[in-house]
Amino acid sequence: MKYPDRLLALIRALSRLPGVGPKSAQKLGLYLAQNKAEASELAAVIEEVRRHVGVCERCGNLAEGPLCPVCADPTRDEGVIAVVETAADVLAIEKSGEFTGVYHVLGGVLNPLEGVGPEALRIEPLLERAERAREVILATSMTVEGEATAAYLSDLLAQKGVKLSRPAYGLPVGGTLEYVDEITLARALAHRQPVTE
Ligand code: ZN
Repeated sequence: MKYPDRLLALIRALSRLPGVGPKSAQKLGLYLAQNKAEASELAAVIEEVRRHVGVCERCGNLAEGPLCPVCADPTRDEGVIAVVETAADVLAIEKSGEFTGVYHVLGGVLNPLEGVGPEALRIEPLLERAERAREVILATSMTVEGEATAAYLSDLLAQKGVKLSRPAYGLPVGGTLEYVDEITLARALAHRQPVTE
């Protein structure tokens, strides 16, 4: 026996989502096929997000409207920009509650083996914003790619005459910001070290 074609299509679509393996996709698909109210609700909220949640035109964070909540907040210090890899990193730093500057979301890290070059990241808009900033904190991960990306950016930004820093080590080597606890993250940012050429 095989599942109906429409259900198979749903299972295939679910299995393409990050973190969902074939087994979970099958389980979710079967569940949704048999729980109509939840399936309708899920379809509706997905459509709402698709329509209304986009990317902040200034920093690349997630936004409902042209600017994200951080960029739209007049009390944030636009002179200090934390450069992070993803919108999840913004959320992690925001949870620490210690950072009063603004963000710049690169959209990933340089990864030559996977074909991610500088053109795939939001580097040009960062260089423009850095012209008007006092300090840029290179808060990419402590992974090989995160370190290489920070080094690449510090070469470019050094010419802008802006102060460059990197969160203090003590962050786990090889770790991504997303999984660092709030206190460690707050401390790493507070004790950030100047980047020297
Ligand atoms: Zn923003």
